Amino acid sequence: MGDKHSQPHAIMVPMPLQGHLLPHTHLATKLASHGLTITFVNTQHIHHQITKSQPNDTEDQDDIFATARKSGLDIRYKTVSDGFPLAFNRFQNHNQAVEGLLHVFPAHVDELVGNLVQSDPSVTCLIADTFHPWSATIANKYNLVNISFWTEPALVLSIYYHLDLLRERGHYGSHDNREDTIDYIPGVKAIEPKDLVSHLQATNTSTAAHRILYKAFQQVTNANFILCNTVQELESQSLLALQEKQPTYAIGPVFPNKATKSVVVATNLISEFDCIEWLNAKPPGSVLYISFGSYAQVTKNVVEEIAHGLLLSRVSFIWVLRPDTISHGELETSILPVGFEDEIKDRGLIVPWCSQIEVLSNPAIGGFLTHCGWNSILESMWCGVPMLCFPILTDQTTNRKLVVDDWGIGLNLCDRIKPITRMEVAEKINRLMSGRLGDGLQKEIKKMRQKLEDGLAINGSSQKNLCQFISDVKAKIQT
Ligand code: UDP
Repeated sequence: MGDKHSQPHAIMVPMPLQGHLLPHTHLATKLASHGLTITFVNTQHIHHQITKSQPNDTEDQDDIFATARKSGLDIRYKTVSDGFPLAFNRFQNHNQAVEGLLHVFPAHVDELVGNLVQSDPSVTCLIADTFHPWSATIANKYNLVNISFWTEPALVLSIYYHLDLLRERGHYGSHDNREDTIDYIPGVKAIEPKDLVSHLQATNTSTAAHRILYKAFQQVTNANFILCNTVQELESQSLLALQEKQPTYAIGPVFPNKATKSVVVATNLISEFDCIEWLNAKPPGSVLYISFGSYAQVTKNVVEEIAHGLLLSRVSFIWVLRPDTISHGELETSILPVGFEDEIKDRGLIVPWCSQIEVLSNPAIGGFLTHCGWNSILESMWCGVPMLCFPILTDQTTNRKLVVDDWGIGLNLCDRIKPITRMEVAEKINRLMSGRLGDGLQKEIKKMRQKLEDGLAINGSSQKNLCQFISDVKAKIQT
């Protein structure tokens, strides 16, 4: 890595999922606004989805970073095949798609990185999503600084990082996993097995997703640097323990910040519905926002109970219901109870997708019924909106613990053991939206918002960590 540019040039490869694409895009603009050159790589399928979701008159359909470049940021854009044809339904053929990420996608990335390094000697770094099971192998092959970007809480990283420990102690990977409290993971004071990420609670631990996890968390131990989309003061215990193992920098929350606000990068995989005019006509704090994110699916029964609960609660709401929200086998059935839309009239808005951050920052929003995706939690904290938690899979089960048990900024929608009921939904929605209980949550969420703001302030920890990271990367390139 001797004769290279003074500024690092990083190839960035997100996981091809909405919740990973967003923070990677924001990180790309952030790093570029600090003078780095970024070559951002999307899969052809993700690029196709983005293009399809854009309004027809959008300029530069082929290059989502064209506006960023016009604003002076050096972000180049490439696409790569994930091994499947564009029309292949990755959502409905989930296992096959995950096998592809494990066995086929790495070969395409390897070829692309090889070509980029050969054609442009300024390339010095690889920033790969921590979930990629190939990052260290490819970074080493092309002599690139290996940077892992973690888009979930540091708590979740600490848990995955110590998978072997969990297995050794019998909390993971055996037929009758221990059910007592886990208190031996460095940086994790105590966690109940029911709050582990869903993959670690599964009885079948040989799925393609598990095999990705094993490889990815072996690879991460070889990263030169780990970036986390969190704030040091928010998760200091987990971060300090990780920092003892490897250089780890909390640089979050990575949102489009003031410096890059004018830069519009297309990231939606589903066309966005504009809810703002509708919201502006509602009184402050009166509207509940509901979303299960981009990936999680629920059963028809859950949708029905939430719909009836909303009717009983009398609360106004915006509900993001993606066309594929209902889990496998029920895709053809009508999602909502008969007559639901007539009954709610102007009280509710059902949309396939919206600008969530814009919705959450509207004064009309008083609560967020969320699946507890980490981006959604950060955005809710940023906008000071208390949460009603309905975790579904992956890190969401662990994130719920942070929101409800550790930080006191949300309520559980239901007891996870029992099936969800409409009465409980109505009661919890009313509790969340009522001033009385809302006040307690409001107080705590204001504190959390302050922590995020402090982190991003000029002398804040995230800002300082980002600068430190950049200077450490430059030093590494020199050596
Ligand atoms: N999102 C959005 N519009 C929607 C629903 C979600 O822009 O209608 C965004 C949301 O702001 C968040 C991301 O999609 O940044 C979802 O990420 P998260 O980690 O919350 O959940 P995931 O989709 O990964 O399960």
